[in-house]
Amino acid sequence: MNLILFGPPAAGKGTQAKRLVEQRGMVQLSTGDMLRAAIASGSELGQKVKGVLDRGELVTDEIVIALIEDRLPEAEAAGGAIFDGFPRTVPQARALDAILAKRGQKIDSVLRLKVDEPALIERISKRFAEQGRPDDNPEVFVTRLAAYNAQTAPLLPYYREQGKLVELDGMASVDTVAASIDAALSVVA
Ligand code: AMP
Repeated sequence: MNLILFGPPAAGKGTQAKRLVEQRGMVQLSTGDMLRAAIASGSELGQKVKGVLDRGELVTDEIVIALIEDRLPEAEAAGGAIFDGFPRTVPQARALDAILAKRGQKIDSVLRLKVDEPALIERISKRFAEQGRPDDNPEVFVTRLAAYNAQTAPLLPYYREQGKLVELDGMASVDTVAASIDAALSVVA
């Protein structure tokens, strides 16, 4: 089973992805984590993307599509992928569909975690205070939210038209969101 956890930054995608990994043995494919690992390792890719992440903008589609493509065999072997923070643009979504189709696979469900902007801003200031992730600082977060609204939200009609979009209340507690994800997946699996 291949899932997309969809939503703005700080919607709770990473938290829910990690739980699904633990409970279902699936593989979390977070392009944000992969890019941060590249930056931490000082690789050529890391040096290339550091400024983009620091500004809260999106890296190019080619870069993230290649990162995802590399990890698909591992996800397949584990029984499925949880895409977290990918796709973020319509071209990324189309590329993902094409790559999966070539491998005889597909996206089974797109779980949208709906959280309103004031709650996102509150969550992110807390996370910034606790973890100090540079792109969680309030000014950069405004850019990240703008990127979500302009480039990522247009994916909603794309997946709605495919009949794959499931809308969930991401404002609820972590456990309640987890239960609503499990209920949604019981229909898919
Ligand atoms: P995240 O941890 O998912 O919030 O991602 C952190 C940052 O990595 C984003 O603000 C972007 O700069 C970059 N990034 C992560 N995933 C993507 C993607 N699918 N497309 C473009 N940029 C991405």
